[in-house]
Amino acid sequence: VDTQILVVGAGPTGLMLALQLRRLGLQPLLIDRHSGPAQQSRALGVQARTLEIYAQLGIAERALELGRRATGINLWRGSKPAARVPLGDIGRELSPFPYLLILGQDDNERLLGERLAQFGGEVQWNTELVALEQHEDGVVAQLRQPDGSLRRVEAAWVAGCDGAHSAVRELCGIGFPGAAYEQEFFVADTVAKGPMVPEEVNAYLWPRGFNLYFPMRGADHWRLVGILPPELRAGSALRFEDVLPSIRAQDDGATRFEACHWFSSYRIHHRCAERFRDRRCFLLGDAAHIHSPAGAQGMNTGLQDAWNLGWKLALVVQGRAPEALLDSYGAERLPVAQRLLQTTDRAFTAAVSDSTTMRMLRTHVIPRLGATAMRLSAARRLAFRTISQIGIQYRDSGLSQNLPGLPQGAPRGGERFPWLTLQRDPQAGPVDLYQSFDGLRFQLLLFGQPSPSLPGFERDVRSQMFDAGGENGRRLQAAGIPLPSFFLLRPDGYIGLAGLQAEPELLRRWLTRQVGLRS
Ligand SMILES: Cc1cc2nc3c(=O)[nH]c(=O)nc-3n(C[C@H](O)[C@H](O)[C@H](O)COP(=O)(O)OP(=O)(O)OC[C@H]3O[C@@H](n4cnc5c(N)ncnc54)[C@H](O)[C@@H]3O)c2cc1C
Repeated sequence: VDTQILVVGAGPTGLMLALQLRRLGLQPLLIDRHSGPAQQSRALGVQARTLEIYAQLGIAERALELGRRATGINLWRGSKPAARVPLGDIGRELSPFPYLLILGQDDNERLLGERLAQFGGEVQWNTELVALEQHEDGVVAQLRQPDGSLRRVEAAWVAGCDGAHSAVRELCGIGFPGAAYEQEFFVADTVAKGPMVPEEVNAYLWPRGFNLYFPMRGADHWRLVGILPPELRAGSALRFEDVLPSIRAQDDGATRFEACHWFSSYRIHHRCAERFRDRRCFLLGDAAHIHSPAGAQGMNTGLQDAWNLGWKLALVVQGRAPEALLDSYGAERLPVAQRLLQTTDRAFTAAVSDSTTMRMLRTHVIPRLGATAMRLSAARRLAFRTISQIGIQYRDSGLSQNLPGLPQGAPRGGERFPWLTLQRDPQAGPVDLYQSFDGLRFQLLLFGQPSPSLPGFERDVRSQMFDAGGENGRRLQAAGIPLPSFFLLRPDGYIGLAGLQAEPELLRRWLTRQVGLRS
């Protein structure tokens, strides 16, 4: 074969996958039909789970420097403030990044691309996948090159990260059922002055929709996202000037726009691929699922598809695990996408519903209710767990196993291992457990017991022991972690095996049977 893995599409999903594969020692071929990175900001919400992964990739600090934390949402009714929903550090104690970061997709792609280059990877631009044929032991792809000629490439595996109109999906004949919403969105990158609360999200709720202002880098730089007034729907070549009258009608002309650097309108669909895999081809990101931008989940979900598939594909390509391991990608990520479609659909329908009750709820009740709820810590935690994607779990996956004796409330197989700060050594200060995660190896976390030896798997599994006394004991108890106990985590940070006594035979059995790892 010419390449073990052909990654089609260098949007956020393809870049993340190529980067993770490079870190794991592989050399995927990454192609994109465009001539270079996209210039528009498109998605702009980076969720806590994504930042946790960015930290392992070594790009979180830079993302935090470039982005802005969403400290609150200000809800407006016309030109009058209706309520403020505080968001600052909403996920305190749940994540080292307890907030939503506002950072444009273009910046995310740049950071991922720069990191990829540091690992020796690059994108072959102006290169389009136009055909593929699957055989038992590989895929033959036809790529249109920059000079228009066709190049035949043999790959063992193909990752379709090629967006909503995915060629990989179509060439594999995988259906993409769903529908389009009747509403259309617009996005505009503007320089504007008005009553908006600086540095925060501002939402204008109007009877048939909303306009959202997101603070972006640069003075008075706001990204405006809104619903097109019905009379402008399906209009070709719309300009920002066309939507200005409706914006003025909502805020009584209080906002002055000094420039618009980018304007686009688009119709949203909610669709999910029937399968995420067809033999040697996989679908990830928008190629696999598209939905309304309500909740800023799109880009983040694609990034996590790649995070889920990366380590599995690397083990299989390196001959360390059987191909069956790859079935767990779809088994784990398809239900996540389906759930996401349902929730974003409900949220979006409520946000744009024309019914009189919904209009009333939206403009009068929801703002006040939202502000009040966010003062309650249980509601704040629930909202954060859901939106930040830290609550995503694969409990039903064949890779998730709980041994008998684990008490109720303890972290379980398939869940993201909770973020904890613990003392590894009674003499030293507490350490952030997540700082020892690198996304490259399995992690065996042992609480109140010594480390067993795992001959043959020393380079795959990193063991860490934590004393159960003093401050550690209190923190472990608060996290529902019994003593003694152990958690064997997969490279992506999700619990594979959870139990009380870390007997070598049980650990070995999970590694060799569930994962299929060969020593
Ligand atoms: C106008 C707009 C605004 C948006 N706003 C938001 C938002 O506010 N919040 C949010 O969460 N999401 C938003 N989204 C969605 C978000 O941009 C996507 O979820 C995200 O880009 C998905 O990333 P991806 O890498 O899976 O796909 P994409 O970013 O679409 O990347 C796919 C790549 O594949 C390449 N490609 C396609 N076909 C081929 C081929 N045959 N051969 C080679 N290369 C190919 C393309 O050139 C492209 O670079 C928005 C989308 C649009 C269009």
